[in-house]
Amino acid sequence: LEEIKDDIEDEQYLFENVKLTDAEYREIRYKKEIYDLVKKRTEEVETLTELFVPISWEMAVILLDILSTLLPPYLSAARTAAAHYRMPEAYDQDGNVDQEKRFAVSLQRYSQDNAGEKMNPFAEQEAWEEHQMGKADMKYGSKNKKQISDDYQYVFEDQIDFVKASVMDGDEFDEEPNELLDKPKEKLASEMLQEERKTLPIYPYRDQLLQAVQEYQVIVIVGETGSGKTTQIPQYLHEAGYTKQGKVGCTQPRRVAAMSVAARVSQEMGVKLGHEAYCTSEKTILKYMTDGMLLREILSEPNLESYSVLMVDEAHERTLSTDILFGLLKASRNPSIYDLIKFRSDLKLLISSATLDAEKFSDYFGSAPIFKIPGRRYPVEIHYTKAPEADYIDAAIVTVLQVHVTQPSGDILVFLTGQEEIETMEEILKHRTRGLGTKIAELIICPIYANLPTELQAKIFEPTPAGARKVVLATNIAETSLTIDGIKYVIDPGFAKVKSYNPRTGMESLLVNPISKASAMQRAGRSGRTGPGKCFRLYTLYNYHKDMDDNTVPEIQRTNLANVVLILKSLGIDDLVNFDFIDPPPEEALLKALELLFALSALNKFGELTKVGRRMAEFPLDPMLSKMIVASDKYKCSDEIITVAAMLSVGNSIFYRPKDKQVHADNARMNFHLGNVGDHIALLRVYNSWRECNYSTQWCYENYIQVRSMKRARDIRDQLEGLLERVEIELTSNLGDLDSIKKAITSGFFPHSAKLQKNGSYWTVKHPQRVHIHPSSGLAQVLPRWVVYHELVLTTKEYMRQVTELKPDWLVEIAPHYYQMKD
Ligand code: ADP
Ligand code: MG
Repeated sequence: LEEIKDDIEDEQYLFENVKLTDAEYREIRYKKEIYDLVKKRTEEVETLTELFVPISWEMAVILLDILSTLLPPYLSAARTAAAHYRMPEAYDQDGNVDQEKRFAVSLQRYSQDNAGEKMNPFAEQEAWEEHQMGKADMKYGSKNKKQISDDYQYVFEDQIDFVKASVMDGDEFDEEPNELLDKPKEKLASEMLQEERKTLPIYPYRDQLLQAVQEYQVIVIVGETGSGKTTQIPQYLHEAGYTKQGKVGCTQPRRVAAMSVAARVSQEMGVKLGHEAYCTSEKTILKYMTDGMLLREILSEPNLESYSVLMVDEAHERTLSTDILFGLLKASRNPSIYDLIKFRSDLKLLISSATLDAEKFSDYFGSAPIFKIPGRRYPVEIHYTKAPEADYIDAAIVTVLQVHVTQPSGDILVFLTGQEEIETMEEILKHRTRGLGTKIAELIICPIYANLPTELQAKIFEPTPAGARKVVLATNIAETSLTIDGIKYVIDPGFAKVKSYNPRTGMESLLVNPISKASAMQRAGRSGRTGPGKCFRLYTLYNYHKDMDDNTVPEIQRTNLANVVLILKSLGIDDLVNFDFIDPPPEEALLKALELLFALSALNKFGELTKVGRRMAEFPLDPMLSKMIVASDKYKCSDEIITVAAMLSVGNSIFYRPKDKQVHADNARMNFHLGNVGDHIALLRVYNSWRECNYSTQWCYENYIQVRSMKRARDIRDQLEGLLERVEIELTSNLGDLDSIKKAITSGFFPHSAKLQKNGSYWTVKHPQRVHIHPSSGLAQVLPRWVVYHELVLTTKEYMRQVTELKPDWLVEIAPHYYQMKD
């Protein structure tokens, strides 16, 4: 009890003052609940066992579950004790419950107890379970409990069919297969894969499609997700000889999708995956990449000579890079040299899209022909909730379990907004199903999100074993980019994380927003690929009509454009206002971007690219980071600065805090902050220590550092080191002089400076607004007078993330044009 109390007091501050992640919030909330409850009860009873008797069953079950995960040594004892006391017949020595026995016992006692008017905790739980089932029944009109066991038979039989229908070998994803052992197997697998390729909806249209590509330069291709556009078309083009004159490039809006598809295609072609996972062979015949990567390539290869065909895939997603690529490929109304399509009359352009935006793309590219691939589409039943759900995660969990126990075989796909939510839901689902024993068929939980290691990503494509059901917890990536066979049920809470940008304050934020109707339709469609499907929308029909836009706003209209403007400027496109955007960005955002680039000295007062700007454009980074690198030349610390830039680019996934070892993790983290050097230098120390230990994985474990993030930082850093040479910056180290490093950081981030106020909050210097140091920062308790920050994140408050102390005279020294006038 004391232990929990301490914990709560420690976290009381966070609880009241800080926006917590869902998981953290839940944990603290539970702890408080338990604490209050246990405290109240202990005042009345003597022993632990008695403690649990008179509280409601609903509460006791929750309590036992939570306590056993939170405080394992203390509580598994409590759990066992309580369990034995209540129903010794149903529990084994470790306190694991045999659900079947428990129900039997409970029923027996129920009938006994019901004779008298005595309070019966089991009855209460039964009632609660009944109620839960009933709730779901009402919503989805599912079958009643009696039929559950029949359904299991059905699940089992049907599952065998399913396994037969799909032959897939997850082993192929192994990075370094054993050459000798793997040879014959690989052959066999790829033979099967060749058979499988012929069953895809696109296959009958192969020749027609190749014919069209021959006749037209630009074609818009529409087809259902899963028809084979992404994996097959580049292979068809290769088979037809297009790769003799150059590469076939295919862009994806997301890195995960590019990697997953590249892996799949190299499997089908029986070749080894290229080093970077984006290319499919050593010589790179086919190249799967993100649209952002292609955009960078145009900078060094303006005419894209090395390509014979470009396929811009998932064009309906309208990412910033896709929109800019389109403008560059076309640019006919623009008096610049970048009329790539006219200039490269031999270059073929394929635009593929999953929805009805096809007309718009066709119009944009001078009435390009639209090639439709008829897909198999089965009817999808759409269900809405009767009333809005307060907590869509809870609702999604109940729905998954409900589908699992009442619906015939078929896998479930749940759309969530991000890694955090996915992990929370995974944890709760595992927890809830763990105790249920054999009464419920196995539920295989497969998460998929951008940061998930590739080996684990492959898991979602593995066929579901007989008798089990797979539930895929995915971000938007499963909306169109990835196709998972066997999905029959879609659960759609109706939200996605959307980036938005406020040009006035320059603040970018990633917030959870309702999706568009177009997205909702896409999501529902995922359930009807292999047979009739069902989609459970966790919102009402009224919400659907009233709160959801028809289409998602293109990214270009809700993002910071500084990077894009820099790229366009360095391509010689000066007249941005008349650039032929498919949908133009807000003028205010364009102006803001120009203003920032001017402040960073990337543009002169005529809006022309300066030498600094030209160097900055070489780096595939945010302009402030690029400026920081360019400035490091002056401060002789390029070695340190590219490390800082690489670590910042990885995002906030360097440190981790396992639940049971938070104190250790925090201590390890604070070691890097010794001397209150600030978060940037701390990141530098992390990297350098890791490097000194020869990039050791063990070292990462010991210091609570995520290996995967570090590896990524190392890749980025290597890339940046290569680019230094191109802009003629020497790699020099100046580790002894932290001020120089901080000055270089300030040279890029001086627009992000803030000054401490009396109450412990900060005012940003430009566009004044109240902000706070993020609790994860090493300076959160230090509160220096002046700070420079990497980014603002908006949660319940505006937080500065990655903060370093700053001397105010640096601002005047480094950016007199920006600061002197004010003071
Ligand atoms: P589209 O681009 O038209 O949506 P894809 O070419 O991505 O379709 O997918 C075609 C088929 O290939 C899918 O139905 C799926 O079965 C299979 N597939 C795609 N990617 C993978 C993968 N990484 N692992 C296993 N199967 C895959
Ligand atoms: Mg695709």
